[in-house]
Amino acid sequence: KRKNRLSIKEYKEGILSGNRVILSRAITLVESALEEDNELAAELIDEIYPHTGNSFRIGITGVPGVGKSTFIESFGLHLLKKRKKLAVLTIDPSSQKSGGSILGDKTRMERLSVMENAFIRPSPAGDALGGVAHKTRETMLLCEAAGYDVVFIETVGVGQSETAVKNMVDFFLLLMLAGAGDELQGIKKGIMEMADTIAITKADGANLAASKKARKEYQNALHLFPANENGWNPEVVVCSALENFGLDEIEKRLNDYQQKMKESGFFNYNRKQQAVHWMHQTINFYLKRNFYNQEKIREKIDIFEEAVRAGNKHSVQAARELLSI
Ligand code: GDP
Repeated sequence: KRKNRLSIKEYKEGILSGNRVILSRAITLVESALEEDNELAAELIDEIYPHTGNSFRIGITGVPGVGKSTFIESFGLHLLKKRKKLAVLTIDPSSQKSGGSILGDKTRMERLSVMENAFIRPSPAGDALGGVAHKTRETMLLCEAAGYDVVFIETVGVGQSETAVKNMVDFFLLLMLAGAGDELQGIKKGIMEMADTIAITKADGANLAASKKARKEYQNALHLFPANENGWNPEVVVCSALENFGLDEIEKRLNDYQQKMKESGFFNYNRKQQAVHWMHQTINFYLKRNFYNQEKIREKIDIFEEAVRAGNKHSVQAARELLSI
């Protein structure tokens, strides 16, 4: 493992020159759980930080099967034609736990993945200590330093990653389907509320009419939410990733958003708020990790868990005792 590491200078120069192999290795370093890797990764982030911030960061979410990977591939290819460089980071919360994966083990986005200007990378969903998206954000920074000017962060839309992702992107796109009417297809109201645009996908063939109808329904549902502080009105669009329909409109929405939010100053304001948020997130992460990594805590944690399970101590009592060891 050790000899696989490069020097900070090698990582940095590789990333800044857009070398994908070195970018991949730097991401592996950032994702590592080893403490000495963390040190090096932190140093690397410091080094590349001045070269970050130049991409449009877009969160894309939707339930499994809604058509995320198909959409990302079609829309991604569409953006590449406009001379964009695209990085796609996918967060799959199921992959660590079960070994199985909601996002599927099939090779996803085959056409996109072979493109010179596209970089696709699964991102760890975090561990028991709650590193959710913590590493995804750093990976995003590495991709920006490597010159990717659009970054997609894909999540499955069923878990908690969405809130974390919302806190690291400029724009949040929610994919939904027509005619699945069952309580908004398991998408929580909170996730709908985060959306800057909802795209009803698979609007093709026999599904087109239903999709247009669903568009009105979702648009009405959106009106019930409180107005956004940035003055942006989330809209519902219909698209088909198979027929490349509606992609222009989505691109236009993205461009409009970027332009308006930059003019109003919200774009920058939001990023600053997010930066503060990530400071606190990082503090939380390390406090927690340092706590649980202490020898004396590791020795006692099982005993305390057992005492709580057996009803010999209540949770708060046990927690307070552990915290004061
Ligand atoms: P994910 O789980 O959200 O990533 O969904 P996938 O992209 O794997 O798509 C799930 C299924 O829906 C696949 O069989 C796709 O071929 C199909 N699909 C995806 N997008 C479209 C679309 O725009 N139109 C139609 N008709 N089918 C689609």
